Amino acid sequence: MRAKCVVNATGPWVDLFRQQDAEAQGKPVKPMVAPSQGVHVVVDREFLPTDHALLIPKTADGRVLFAVPWLGKVILGTTDTPRNDLAREPLPFPEELDFILGEAGKYLNRQPTLADVRSMWVGLRPLVKPQDDDGENTKKISREHTVMSSKTGLVTVTGGKWTTYRAMSEDVLAECFQIGRLPGRPAGVTVNLPLVGAPAEAAVTHSMNQSQGLHSYGTDAAAVAALPGAQNWLMDGLSEAMVRFAARFEYARTVEDMLARRSRLLFLDARKAAEIAPRVAAILTEELAQDVQLNDFLALTRQYLPVQG
Ligand SMILES: Cc1cc2nc3c(=O)[nH]c(=O)nc-3n(C[C@H](O)[C@H](O)[C@H](O)COP(=O)(O)OP(=O)(O)OC[C@H]3O[C@@H](n4cnc5c(N)ncnc54)[C@H](O)[C@@H]3O)c2cc1C
Repeated sequence: MRAKCVVNATGPWVDLFRQQDAEAQGKPVKPMVAPSQGVHVVVDREFLPTDHALLIPKTADGRVLFAVPWLGKVILGTTDTPRNDLAREPLPFPEELDFILGEAGKYLNRQPTLADVRSMWVGLRPLVKPQDDDGENTKKISREHTVMSSKTGLVTVTGGKWTTYRAMSEDVLAECFQIGRLPGRPAGVTVNLPLVGAPAEAAVTHSMNQSQGLHSYGTDAAAVAALPGAQNWLMDGLSEAMVRFAARFEYARTVEDMLARRSRLLFLDARKAAEIAPRVAAILTEELAQDVQLNDFLALTRQYLPVQG
């Protein structure tokens, strides 16, 4: 494969590509990422029936803990566990779940147990280690994310936040222009670009605490409601029309695309996601006439639920 410019944006896995790049140059590379595992646990709203999030700045062992109302549920988190094996689908360690449930129980309406966990998810944070000067063109854009290019022109971006994705992208492009891999263009325009479904006027129409539903589509709600199956509710907040909309206009190709990313059901209630997955698969198959990977999704849902002894 040939390309003018290759951007390595593989999160905590960036060092694997940097390694391959360095081998091509015949020199060693210092890892730039120290992966750190964070676990989130989701429970019902009854545990924190307010619209306010809770931050415990210092738990029994000095860590920070939060409880945030989100889409009709409450997210509890998180942990910060060094994890160098770079697992593709990392699972929580039992002591991480004990810590979150045990500490949160001191502040919630009642003590949550494993049986109360509707979903749990784990991510690897790409924490960027300080780099010594090793001859690479290193540019620390900010404390939040790092953009770096190697002598072969591999541009690596890592660190950062979900909330800074536009700034990260603009900094990556600026680096590609700077090293001459792409023809220079004026600075990005995304700062004033509304997100899909955002109203022209910045009017907040609903809160993130509210369960998912037609309102989640913003200005696209009418287009969703006009599709076949708008009145056929697969469950509260998820209609047949929403699945068709995802297939036709949101590039959903698999059940996981639909139930993890277009809808956030997998992260809110993994059991319910598994329950309705066959119906979602049937609609997607009708739309796309291809394998929508139902069995893979059903296997995945099991990783989002704790094993109860
Ligand atoms: C527990 C936790 C809590 C967080 N909380 C927040 C928060 O509250 N607010 C916030 O703003 N940010 C938060 N973040 C940070 C945020 O998740 C990350 O900074 C963000 O995801 C980084 O985006 P990225 O695209 O660089 O990497 P990633 O999101 O990790 O994406 C990298 C992608 O590369 C893919 N990939 C890897 N290897 C290959 C390969 N060989 N070929 C093709 N694809 C590959 C992966 O599958 C993945 O999709 C949190 C992170 C964690 C782990």
